[in-house]
Amino acid sequence: MADQQIREEIRAVLETFSHSPKAHVQSFGCQLNFCDGEKYKGILQDLGYELTDTPEEADVILFNACAVRAHAESRVIGRLGALKAIREKNPRLVVGLCGCMAEEQAVRDLLKKSYPFVNLVLGAGAMERLPESLMAVYRGQKRAEALAFAGLPDETLPTVRESTFQASVPVMYGCNNFCTYCIVPYVRGRERSRTPEAIEAEVRGLIANGCREILLLGQNVNSYGRGLETEMNFPALLRRLDAIPGDYIIRFMSSHPKDATPELIDTMLDSEHIEHHLHLPVQSGSDAVLKAMNRRYTAEKYLTMIDYARAKAPDFGFSSDLIVGFPTETDADFEETMRIIEYVKYDNLYTFIYSRRDGTPAAEMPQVSTEEQIAARMARLLARQKEICEKWNARFLGKTVRMLAEKRSPETGLLLGKTREGLVIEVPGGESDIGSLLDVRVTGVKNWALSGEKQ
Ligand code: SF4
Repeated sequence: MADQQIREEIRAVLETFSHSPKAHVQSFGCQLNFCDGEKYKGILQDLGYELTDTPEEADVILFNACAVRAHAESRVIGRLGALKAIREKNPRLVVGLCGCMAEEQAVRDLLKKSYPFVNLVLGAGAMERLPESLMAVYRGQKRAEALAFAGLPDETLPTVRESTFQASVPVMYGCNNFCTYCIVPYVRGRERSRTPEAIEAEVRGLIANGCREILLLGQNVNSYGRGLETEMNFPALLRRLDAIPGDYIIRFMSSHPKDATPELIDTMLDSEHIEHHLHLPVQSGSDAVLKAMNRRYTAEKYLTMIDYARAKAPDFGFSSDLIVGFPTETDADFEETMRIIEYVKYDNLYTFIYSRRDGTPAAEMPQVSTEEQIAARMARLLARQKEICEKWNARFLGKTVRMLAEKRSPETGLLLGKTREGLVIEVPGGESDIGSLLDVRVTGVKNWALSGEKQ
């Protein structure tokens, strides 16, 4: 919570406004960033701002942005530029950039040089310093900057949840893995875990308030617990949360394959509430590329986890991230990636063309393929994955699955949700079904989803 004195000072400033003060927060990037965005909203609401979706009517605009992909960063910079006109009309407007993008020196230099109207910069781990930074701007400081990513966020920070039935709960922050293409360890710092007591208390509170889906988040949840005073690993945390009584499901992401263990799979399969789906980012099927990426597993080692899970639960769902066009990737390496997708039969694949990030080791590696070769590989991968999915999804035809009805499709009006195995499913249903766990008989299969009828 904001320091009482700062809070009172900000409230005194807000009382001088001729209108009710408003704040607009926009988050970009990964789930963890969206989760941070809910905390920025909570802090601003606690300070006395009303939240608004319209930047033009806001007195504080925060862009909570992600550093992972260069293209996404350029889009955020473009959107920031568009705020200049709003700031000119409202000189008291506070425009802030926060999140891991703000941790990059090159970004801060660019803001200083070309976007002087951005008067607040907050790093990914500095969210509790939002009140003091805001107050510094109200006192007349040209730009308030707070950077930090070493500790854990204050457990008492208020949160404005986007949904009443789905909630994200971070279990750990940062990453120690230093994959050669990734900027995260440089902008989010080293791994640190929340205590199991704090996580359990938050999850219990959410379930007591009717939450139906808890999404546990971390850059690598499988290294949860390292550095805690009491001995703890991620499967043990899952078992502790699964013991909370109630009608809910637990999902989690992301899992680094080098740290995924049979104990994790056994825990998932023995649980009452945990999904039977693992997002296990393989990134490439080639051992040479995996080595150049510093992923610290081989394709064969990766597949042992797939085999272990499927031997125990043949319908177990897997999804993955895949990078196409890593600098050292040749056509022969790409064939190994195709081999992996044929073998695993992923239910969902998140595919990315390699994005060069300055400051990472991969940025110094010469690119061995042309843009045309990379685009052709991507097209082939997507086309084949579509065919595989359509066939593989048919394993559910005629079976009864459990889904959380999340929303209504704007195109078809059908309810959309996910099965315990992580597959998208659509069913006819009413408004009152949204937010409920439903038993559904699968009657149809598409390449991207199942369809069914409520039981
Ligand atoms: S595990 Fe690798 S890809 Fe994932 S956040 Fe850490 S360094 Fe980045």
